[in-house]
This record gives sequence, C-alpha cells and structure tokens, in this order.
Amino acid sequence: MSSNEQGIEGIIKFIALKNAAEYNGKARVETVIAKAFAARQDLRGSVKSLLPKIKAIVHDINLLSSVEQQALLEEIAPDEEKKVEVQSHQRSTSIQKLPPLPSAVLGQVVTRFPPEPNGYPHIGHAKAAIIDEEYARMYNGKLILRFDDTNPLNEKEEYYDAILEGLEWLRVRPNIVKNTSDDILKLHELGKKLVQLDGAYVCTCSQTTIHDLRSKGLPCQCRADSNTSLELLQKMFDGSFDKNAAIIRFKGEMADQNTAMRDPTLFRIIDADHPKIGTRIRVWPTYDFASPIEDSLDGVSHAMRTKEYELRNELYFEILDRLGLQKPFMMEFSRLELDGIPVSKRKIKPLVENGMVKSWDDPRLPTLMGFKRRGFLPESIREFVLTLGLTLAETKPPFEALEALNRKRLDPQSMRLFFVKNPVELCVQNGIPKEVILKNHPNSELGIRRLRVSSSFFIPQEDAEKFSIGDEFRLIELYNLKLVEKQSKNNKLVLVATVTGDEVRQNMPKIQWVAKNDIVPYQVIIPKHLYVGEEYNTKSLEIAEGFAESFVSTLQPDTRIQFVRFGFCRIDGNHKAIFTHK
Ligand code: ATP
Ligand code: MG
Repeated sequence: MSSNEQGIEGIIKFIALKNAAEYNGKARVETVIAKAFAARQDLRGSVKSLLPKIKAIVHDINLLSSVEQQALLEEIAPDEEKKVEVQSHQRSTSIQKLPPLPSAVLGQVVTRFPPEPNGYPHIGHAKAAIIDEEYARMYNGKLILRFDDTNPLNEKEEYYDAILEGLEWLRVRPNIVKNTSDDILKLHELGKKLVQLDGAYVCTCSQTTIHDLRSKGLPCQCRADSNTSLELLQKMFDGSFDKNAAIIRFKGEMADQNTAMRDPTLFRIIDADHPKIGTRIRVWPTYDFASPIEDSLDGVSHAMRTKEYELRNELYFEILDRLGLQKPFMMEFSRLELDGIPVSKRKIKPLVENGMVKSWDDPRLPTLMGFKRRGFLPESIREFVLTLGLTLAETKPPFEALEALNRKRLDPQSMRLFFVKNPVELCVQNGIPKEVILKNHPNSELGIRRLRVSSSFFIPQEDAEKFSIGDEFRLIELYNLKLVEKQSKNNKLVLVATVTGDEVRQNMPKIQWVAKNDIVPYQVIIPKHLYVGEEYNTKSLEIAEGFAESFVSTLQPDTRIQFVRFGFCRIDGNHKAIFTHK
C-alpha cells in the first residue's frame, strides 16, 4: 500500500455507511469509489490497488442490518467525517470537481472528444475535452480523441496538428487517438444497410426543392420510391453521380415538430482531397450520421456534447436503434461563451482569413495558442472550465474569473520588473551615482539584480503629469523625492526633483522608474475585446511604448513577468511583451 493510501479504510467505511443509510442499507461500489476519489484526489492513480479493498468493505457493510450500520457509522463518524471534510475543503481551494456521472461503472467509462480538424482549438474545446478527460479519469476509464473529419472541404493536416498541440499544452492526454475517416468504409457499409432497411433513401432533388419541402413539412418523390433508391444507392457509390447530385437522407417524418427529424442528410458527394484519405472516397457522412455510429462503434459509454445539439438527440438515437447498435448515455453542457470574444471556429476562422487578427495565435483570440501566447497557464484554464462545471445555463462567465485564477498562479513565480510607459525624464538634483540592488520578488527566491543609477531617470507620463511642484513621491526601492520644477525641453516635459529621504512612507505615491543609463526601448501589446457589442473593435490591439530596464531584454521569450504597477506580461520576442492581465 502506498503512503497516500494510508488511512483510506476509515474514509471508505464512512462513505459506504452513509451511502447505505441513504439507499435502504445497500451501498454501491461505484458511488463509494466516486465519493472516495472526490474526497481524496491523491488516490486517483491507485484505483487498481484500492478496488478490491473498496469492494470488500462495501460487501461487508451491505451484510449488516441497518441498525448495525447506524451504530458503526456513529462510532466512526466523528473522526472520518472530519477527514472527508478537510480533504474536500483542500480540494475546493485547488480544483473543483465534477458531479458523479449517471450510470457509470468503474473501469467501463469511455468518453470522447470529437473536434473537426477545420481550425485551431479554442477554450470551448478545452471545456469539452477537460470534462471528457476528468470523467474518464474519475472512473478509471478511457478518453478517445476522435477527429471528426468527414468534410474534406474543410479539413487540413495543419488543424489536426494544432488540435494535438493544444491538447498537449492543456495536458489532456487521450488514451486513444483516431479519425472518423479511418472508419469510412464501415460508415459506408452501415449507411447502405440503413437504406436497405428502409431507414434512409437516396434523394436526387435539387437543394432548393429539398429546402422548400422541408420547410413545408412535405415529402419528395424520392422518398416514396424506395425501390429505386437501392439502384440509386449503387450509383451513388460507383461514381455515377456528380458532386451534390444525390444525397442519402434519413427517413424521418417530414412534418415532425422537431425539424432535425425532417429527413436530414446522412451522406453527400464531395470532390475534394481529404488530408488522410485523398480523393479515393467521394461519399462522405454528415456529422448527424458519423457521430452516433462512431460513438457506438468506439464503445463510448457517456457521450457529452454542447446544448446546441439537443434537438439532434432524437436522430442520434433513432439511427442507432434502426441499425441495432449499442447506445451511449448522452449528456449536454452549455457552450462556453465569453463577452466580446467569439468562442467558435466558424467565427474565428474568418477573422484569421480576412486578416482582422494576425494569426490563429493572436493574443486577442480565445484559441489555446492565443491564451498561451498571452501568458495564461494551462492549469488556470483547466481550473476555470471545471469551476464552470456541467451547467446547462447559457451564462457568460466573466473573463476576470479566469484572470484571477491565472494571477494566483503567476504571482509567486513572476519577477517584478520596471517598465515605464510614455517615459518622461526626471532629473534628480542631488542624486549621487550608486549601485542599487533590487529584489526580483518580495517573498520568493527569484534572485536579485544590480544596477547603477545616477541622477537621470524616466517615469511614466501619467504619473509625471499628475505631480505638482512641492509634491512628494517615492521611486520604488530607491528613495523619496520632492518635485522642484516642471520644465519643457524641446516641447517635452522634464521633471526636476530633489531627494528628501529613504524611509518608506505610507501615503506617498510609489512609482516605477528606469535609470537613463539602463534602458531598452520596449513595447507591450495589450489585447482587448475583439468585439464591442456586435461591432468589430478596431482598437482591439493597443500598443504601449516605453522603456524597460535593460535586464528585461536578457529574458527568454515565454518568460512570464510582472511589470510593476502595469500588469503581468509574457515576453514575446526581442523588446516586446504581451500583456496578460492586471
Ligand atoms: P464549428 O464552429 O466549426 O462548429 P466548434 O468551435 O463548434 O466549431 P467543433 O469541432 O464543432 O468546434 O467542436 C468539437 C467539440 O467541442 C464538440 O463536442 C463541441 O460540443 C465542443 N465545443 C465546441 N465549442 C465549444 C464551446 N464554446 N464550449 C464548449 N464546448 C464546445
Ligand atoms: Mg461545432
């Protein structure tokens, strides 16, 4: 037994007894496991070794009468309850947990994350993938990453790679990675079978006719001619039809209240080069067909998707029913949306293609690469999506909540350095040249830096403009000054001040500075909301120009720092950082 499994027996007994008390004296192994792991996350890796123990405890407890169970619970409760509470409390200050899955059996949960490789992954995908992964881990099951690549017009190798890279950055590690296109022949076979079973038919009507009849709730001639559809089916697969000349449609109910059941398209003919398959396949399934079939063939136990698909659930199950295939348990959660930032590939892609943002990793975008570039940590994103949990409510979580989680992590590990935006020169009359030692962080071991100062500095314009003659202020970690004069040199403001002391005083403004002999020109890119209301924000990328202390230019790209009184930033390149958040 590993050290973290110590003391677990009491907790398991306690949880099992409570569970038994709630359910007529019969505790369930799965529930006890889920609760035990919820209370003690550190045990998740030990499922295998703990399982027999948990089973034995539950077995023994279920043999007791309810009076005996009650007595035992009272005996152990005071101690064990505390442990469970302490652990749950510790957890709630770290990462939130998801509620148990319905009808889940330990070791048999299979979830899947099915992105289409038609763009770069975004924070909405993070939500879906992390929830899928958390559940797979919670039940010692499997996570499948399935590229839903059945539209060769949209898929690109670059996007498969970007999704893999994004998930790797998030540390979402699927147990199986596959493509829907791997199964294209099986999908064909099942599609043909559905037609043969009269559960679908080939339709050669024009797009406008289909659209028109669908909105009127009326069937077309093709639907009535089921006999010919077998012939047409043959033609569809042997290449006799041009692209878009025929489709396979589900035989639903044209007048169905649920419009998703009005004979939706299951297969269409597309002539395009598929990144994995090439041009040898022309008949491609739609999402509506591929998704239930793949879930079923992959043995998915719990299929989770966003609420937008709710109306399609009926179709999903009906397809599986008609083909006699095993059905997963379907669950929905709300789409993650953010104010002023579009969280959907179909909205992000045009921004990239039209040059409204620079690239998929533009820091204004909610893509994982955008967040990474901006300085967000993958752990913060995981915590953020887990705190949102499985709600169905379409609320937009405040971006500030994500920032707060990230700040908590960045704060202890980011050096505090000086950047002066819109610098204004400051001459210190009695400033003597000296070496100063600055701590890189007040309370952790992030080292020190030494620099020489003399009598010339720069301070931010915003501060300089506020000060009046006679005002006192402090240059952080250096000394206090009194403003003597405000001059204008070549139309530029210059402040003249005199040193008044060293001691830190409560109400004195404390400002960042750079020494004139130790500066590098520096740019901080500040991403703002891409949209204000429905309008594209033409000022969504602000650039702050100024001077940083020269030490900053020695830092490697990707270093995360805090510019004092400015905000957290990530070094993005030579003389350039990206603003993460305050
Ligand atoms: P598109 O706009 O092209 O449909 P998408 O952004 O919706 O793209 P998909 O590839 O369709 O991405 O989605 C893959 C999976 O991620 C689906 O299970 C989907 O439900 C989930 N997903 C996509 N966007 C979000 C989101 N904003 N919030 C939560 N889950 C999402
Ligand atoms: Mg989608």
